[in-house]
Amino acid sequence: MRAINPPRELYEFARVLADAGKSCFLVGGAVRDYLLGREVSDFDVATDARPEEVIKAYKRVIPTGIKHGTVTVLFKGMEIEVTTFRTESSYADGRHPDSVEYASTIGEDLSRRDFTMNAMAFDLGARDLLDPHGGREDLARRLVRAVGDPLERFREDGLRPLRAIRFASQLGFKIEGGTLAAIGPSIVRFRLVSAERVREELQKTLLSPVPSLGLRLLEETGLLAAISPELIGCRGVEQRGMHVFDVLDHLYASVDASPPELVLRLAALLHDIGKPAAKKEKEGEDPTFYRHEEYSARDAEALLKRLRFPNAVTDEVVHLVRLHMFAYDDSWGDPAVRRFLARVGPDSLDRLFALRVADGTGIIGRPVDPRGLDPLRERIAAVLAAKEAFGIADLAVKGGDLSSIGIPPGPKMGMMLKELLETVMDDPALNERGRLLEIAGKLKPKYGL
Ligand code: ATP
Ligand code: MG
Repeated sequence: MRAINPPRELYEFARVLADAGKSCFLVGGAVRDYLLGREVSDFDVATDARPEEVIKAYKRVIPTGIKHGTVTVLFKGMEIEVTTFRTESSYADGRHPDSVEYASTIGEDLSRRDFTMNAMAFDLGARDLLDPHGGREDLARRLVRAVGDPLERFREDGLRPLRAIRFASQLGFKIEGGTLAAIGPSIVRFRLVSAERVREELQKTLLSPVPSLGLRLLEETGLLAAISPELIGCRGVEQRGMHVFDVLDHLYASVDASPPELVLRLAALLHDIGKPAAKKEKEGEDPTFYRHEEYSARDAEALLKRLRFPNAVTDEVVHLVRLHMFAYDDSWGDPAVRRFLARVGPDSLDRLFALRVADGTGIIGRPVDPRGLDPLRERIAAVLAAKEAFGIADLAVKGGDLSSIGIPPGPKMGMMLKELLETVMDDPALNERGRLLEIAGKLKPKYGL
């Protein structure tokens, strides 16, 4: 086990409270991560000082969570979350503690924390570790274990089962038997937890080194069914061709193979989620999943909205899912390359290619060579280098030019600009103001102008 070695500034921070006669402990994830030798960037501190006393003791304090007894202190370039010792009584609705009560000792504060590895405190004055629940031992055994009776703790807060799996996935730990067994019976509670809290933990699970560890635990415990019946519907859906897995294992393998970026990991997890809905079977033939990318885009969008992901994330994931079935070959002419680029958008290109590589790896069950996409990359690079038009903004005419020849702004102008872009993608030489105005003039009757 590594040493707990916080920066000098944190001791200086603690000195200020000590001078006011208050104690100060580093708690939670920072202590756990120091012991594991992981990088520590968030500093959570617990103290017997009340928030108003903390506010008085430091110059720059933001009342970030004052209802819960938390303030953020900006100190010598650090952001330190300072929370007064708490006990949490009960969570009647399974969502929020009914009340937040201050505790008088660090011991009480530690016993309301979720897992033994998160329930240690490092005394910044005496410089020693308090570990009343055997956190170090569980770290050494690589176990996630609830503090106290797991059923009771999960009943208090239905998010904790998901957190147990998140930590197991992030750290590659096992979940201790009793704690694991308590997850199933706690799903009724889990269903009451707000989408935002679920999203946060799910996100961390997906960004862990091997997300399928967490995903399989979610599936085995029944949490995945509560989060996404659509994903569970992919279990046992067999596929043919090069595929070595059913749809759900294919999705897990694709997530594991994709770079640790949220949008990519989500796209990898969801890119075939609509396959069960798209599946068509005929006697004596392999099933088909024609247009499954459309079904998948629809289901992915519904799921991401339900989990309240930010619109920017949802839109990009859905976009990638919808386009993941592109099939390039060297019969594509330049107009086809420009249209592909127009549809994907230059900013999404690298992600779409990364998704394709992850998808391929999930199909055959071993890494595919990303250089397979090089020919298409080169064709696209050539289009970009020639500064050829593949978007309305690249056209040599703007809306204003069209109004000057009697085309009023509105939906018709929009359609006409699209038609001009199609023309220019077929023949880049036409992207000149005079020629485009001429073409637009000829198109007017078609648009009833
Ligand atoms: P990370 O490094 O991912 O932020 P963390 O351990 O700091 O991990 P947080 O969610 O930031 O996790 O929570 C900080 C600490 O607060 C935890 O270590 C734990 O002691 C306590 N905690 C957080 N959420 C809960 C919860 N739902 N129930 C009980 N204790 C919790
Ligand atoms: Mg944290």
